Amino acid sequence: MNGPYAEVIVEVKSASVDRPFHYGIPSLLAERVHVGTRVLVPFGPRRVEGYIVGFSDTTDAPEKTKPLLEVLDDEPPLTPDLVELAGFLSERYLSTKAAAVQALLPSGMRAKATTFLRIQNQPEGVYLPGSWEYELLQELYQSPNKTKEQLVSEHPEWRPVIRSWVEEGVLQELHGVKHGIQAKTMTFLSTPLTDSELQAALDELSSRAKKQRELLTFLFEAGEALLMKDVFAETGASSATLKPLLDKGFVVKEEREVNRDPYADKQFEKSEPLPLTPMQDNACRTIKNAVDSGAAQTILLQGVTGSGKTEVYLQAIAACVAQGRQAIMLVPEIALTPQMVEQFKKRFGDEVAVLHSRLSTGEKYDEWRRIRHGEVNIVVGARSAIFAPFRSIGLMIIDEEHETSYKQDDHPKYLAREVAMYRARQHKATVVLGSATPSLETRWWAHQGIVQRVEMPERVRGQKLPKVRVVDMRHELQSGNRSMFSVALKTGIEERLERGEQIILFLNRRGFATFVLCRSCGYVARCRDCEIPLTYHKARGLEQLRCHYCGYAERMPETCPDCQGDHVRHFGTGTQRVEEELHKVFPDAGVIRMDVDTTSGKDSHAVLLQRFRQGEAQILLGTQMIAKGLDFPNVTLVGVISAETSLYLPDFRAAERTFQLLTQVAGRAGRHELPGEVVVQSYNPQHYAIQFAKNQEYEKFFEHEVRHRYSLNNPPFYELTSFTSVNEDEMKALHIARALEDLLRRALDGRDDVIILGTSPAPLARLQGKYRFNVVLKYKKFKPVSRPIREAYHALQGEAQKLGGYLTIDVNAQMIL
Ligand code: ADP
Ligand code: ZN
Repeated sequence: MNGPYAEVIVEVKSASVDRPFHYGIPSLLAERVHVGTRVLVPFGPRRVEGYIVGFSDTTDAPEKTKPLLEVLDDEPPLTPDLVELAGFLSERYLSTKAAAVQALLPSGMRAKATTFLRIQNQPEGVYLPGSWEYELLQELYQSPNKTKEQLVSEHPEWRPVIRSWVEEGVLQELHGVKHGIQAKTMTFLSTPLTDSELQAALDELSSRAKKQRELLTFLFEAGEALLMKDVFAETGASSATLKPLLDKGFVVKEEREVNRDPYADKQFEKSEPLPLTPMQDNACRTIKNAVDSGAAQTILLQGVTGSGKTEVYLQAIAACVAQGRQAIMLVPEIALTPQMVEQFKKRFGDEVAVLHSRLSTGEKYDEWRRIRHGEVNIVVGARSAIFAPFRSIGLMIIDEEHETSYKQDDHPKYLAREVAMYRARQHKATVVLGSATPSLETRWWAHQGIVQRVEMPERVRGQKLPKVRVVDMRHELQSGNRSMFSVALKTGIEERLERGEQIILFLNRRGFATFVLCRSCGYVARCRDCEIPLTYHKARGLEQLRCHYCGYAERMPETCPDCQGDHVRHFGTGTQRVEEELHKVFPDAGVIRMDVDTTSGKDSHAVLLQRFRQGEAQILLGTQMIAKGLDFPNVTLVGVISAETSLYLPDFRAAERTFQLLTQVAGRAGRHELPGEVVVQSYNPQHYAIQFAKNQEYEKFFEHEVRHRYSLNNPPFYELTSFTSVNEDEMKALHIARALEDLLRRALDGRDDVIILGTSPAPLARLQGKYRFNVVLKYKKFKPVSRPIREAYHALQGEAQKLGGYLTIDVNAQMIL
């Protein structure tokens, strides 16, 4: 500590208090406060939680400065470099500082503001045992730390008593915080007796107390403290057996902190590093050299599916840990399958912590503590694991780096890749971005030499990439096939069913986007200016097509503008409909459907995959969640129902997404002995994203797409930031968006490296009954525009709230929704 004042970020949700506040430091607490310490502070009439982000010698109003009340943890939850990172997050993504701090911590950490009841005066009446008043008093004496909320929820009948006693001054309401999740403790038993004491003790116990003698002997022989519940299970003893032993002091009972280990009941066989192929060896060496260099670096590991990237990750991490540094391995949430975790647990055992959304809050908190206390050197996790509080990071790996799930959709709306690069500079660490289909940005930075690129263009076992067949659905229609399965796909499925092999059917569907396509010629309605596919809207009986970038609108055409046919339809098929159709066409085949509806349960995702793996069904039907990370030896056919559903999202990244998805899906087939086949159905088979994906030609796709992005001023040449104004009242939402657009235009007028796309209805134009309007800003460099952006945003945020709505911002938006 230096300086008599602590600068504290308080946990208050309001942009107007988004700055550090000064507090005095009582001498009793002086030794316990550091940068990153969590404290309790007075804030107006309340007591709130906060984090110390610095110290200072002066304060604006010394006479008004209040002292800190309490230090909440023995060890500060945040390290100084994480406090600095929080600063970066709030600067870069324009979130409040409090939200940035919260993003760094496990969810259970957050303490809640709450109310406690204290007995201030004895009540006047005399209350008989069993009466509510009597019971309430008992409870207040016995559990003074129960909150008012807890008491009332456990005993709603006490509510009136509490109310009148508070009014009469019998009870006082105290405002404080209740800690979120606590470390878990469990009861342990041991015996302090020596050899001779044991003999004496056994003699002392009555000969009829057989159980007691057994229990005591058992504990003595164990020679260490054992979990009480295990002891009971082993010896058949109970609390009744235990009590006399405790009373005599023969056995000691204590509470100890234990970790909730989500993988405690699993045994992992140790796996040994595989001898690397020359390509893997080259990649691994490059990464190790970068880690050793002691300078921040980024490497793109571009390896086709099945090229053995995971083994490279494992060995590079092992080398990093051997040097005494730590490693973070990020995996997209849906790819964080039990198999993936298993690979890490098998190689590194207890040295790995695992963080993903399916863990309970308590489990997450304990995994986080193992990281914070230096008990592990490796973490495998989804996006937020990038904030792991390690002391000295050497390596951060982001697998499938192009995945959209690496962008957080809540404030701070960070991109894991950018956070990794920031932390790399702090720790002089290496970032590895792994993918078969890198994001255009990453590949571009490699092209520019800013990122080092390593390729692994072949599969480990030399298996061929599967044959991809693209079926023209327009021809199917012309030859009279109106079903959603082409002849090729249908025959393919039949063959597999006969041979007892398995099939994956893939449907890429993003609920909201409904594009318009002519089923005869493949024409797709697009914006004249942006080339973005138009989105179908139906409001007040009027069928309209709108551009979600610039706001352009036109009427839904009755006939196709290209072929004059009358097969123009708006499009979007759900998994459920495909499933129904499958049952009709293949009545004997078992189908497992995986989509958001069937995988909402805690383990349902893993359970469904396990059932498929065990051959319970021959067909797996699903959305993007089945596109990656799965490895099924018996799958020999992969079908894509309609390539266009991702191609015609109103998104300039649609071609990139389609290419990535098709490549990834194709990678699912033929990874093992059996050769694989892929059938992709499309109304636009000649589209470059489909053609290049067919032959898995990433580099050609990249070159084509880069030119396209360049001509339309899109990433990587410009960065996009989108503002969304939301309100139940359409005019109010529109008003705020227009005002914002005005402010931005005035502030940025005359800059030739900035483009403002005017107010337009968001692709999700109405969500939960609220209207949404977007303003999108494109710029070459963030720094010079960050101030005008911040000012405009802050200026209108309050306005939006006054009108009963809100305004959000997404810096470096990956998707405009
Ligand atoms: P990717 O992640 O690049 O798609 P994987 O890491 O899944 O590829 O590897 C594909 C398969 O090759 C896996 O079954 C893996 O166990 C195997 N494999 C990887 N490296 C080697 C190696 N050096 N020798 C033998 N098999 C390997
Ligand atoms: Zn447009």
